[in-house]
Amino acid sequence: MKELVIISGKGGTGKTSLAASLVALAKKSVVVDCDVDAADLHLVLEPQIKKAEDFSGGKRARIMPASCNDCGKCYEICRFDAISKDESKKPAYFIDSIACEGCGVCSYFCPGKAIAFEPAIHGQWFISDTCYGPMVHARLGIAAENSGKLVSLVRGQAKMLAEKDDLPFIIVDGPPGIGCPVIASITGADAVLIVTEPTVSGEHDLERVAELVEYFKIPTYLCINKFDLNLEAARNIEKKAEKRGINVIGNIHYDRAVTEAQIKRLPVVALPNTAAAIEMSTIWESLAGKLN
Ligand code: SF4
Ligand code: SF4
Repeated sequence: MKELVIISGKGGTGKTSLAASLVALAKKSVVVDCDVDAADLHLVLEPQIKKAEDFSGGKRARIMPASCNDCGKCYEICRFDAISKDESKKPAYFIDSIACEGCGVCSYFCPGKAIAFEPAIHGQWFISDTCYGPMVHARLGIAAENSGKLVSLVRGQAKMLAEKDDLPFIIVDGPPGIGCPVIASITGADAVLIVTEPTVSGEHDLERVAELVEYFKIPTYLCINKFDLNLEAARNIEKKAEKRGINVIGNIHYDRAVTEAQIKRLPVVALPNTAAAIEMSTIWESLAGKLN
């Protein structure tokens, strides 16, 4: 079983459109949406949820009003300014659950044992069925952190599913950028596909994301989406990729079929004989050959 992770330096490069089409072409795969902060692969693949579980990224402190004697110790010792004071209320001290970093110090030192310190629910993860095979995806709560931990969790679930059903591929729609969720998405993967676009920021983003992938020594491929919109920038990006030993696996023309597919909530390859669908098919054939 081989795991391919599709990433980009920033959002809006067409990464998810390409990921959905690769999933449709692979036929036997587990699809994973690791863009847990802004998941949107479900909009195209329309998963039917079979299992939903809560995700806890860590513990949070909570004052139990009946046990609090308003001594103010917690307010003094919280180093993250997560505890506020309002003397017009009883108790006068309260914790901002978003600002709380979950260190547990207030709970430990509270003389009245009035601070509960429990796992907080930060999101949910799902195992679903799609027309193209099983899908593991997740939703992180608003302002919730620890997306890297959630990414590792969904990748682990996908691996178990692929092993159980003897599926040869795991195709991961990774998060954009170079932060913790991206690192959690690519660590230990068999191949990474970077999707970029022919702009100055696309060039810059490629440099950043390529540096990150180089560090992990994972075979890396590049696709420039809408490459024909700026052939000079596309050529510059290809040169930079070649210098770094990144194989340009194929580029995709600007094609209105991509927007049409989005409106119809279909993978682009469901609109056959369009330029983008043909190019995406060629990219999958090349990738599948490299992965096998
Ligand atoms: S330390 Fe405990 S008892 Fe004191 S104000 Fe805070 S919660 Fe209340
Ligand atoms: S758990 Fe830590 S961060 Fe949260 S309120 Fe208590 S002392 Fe502050």
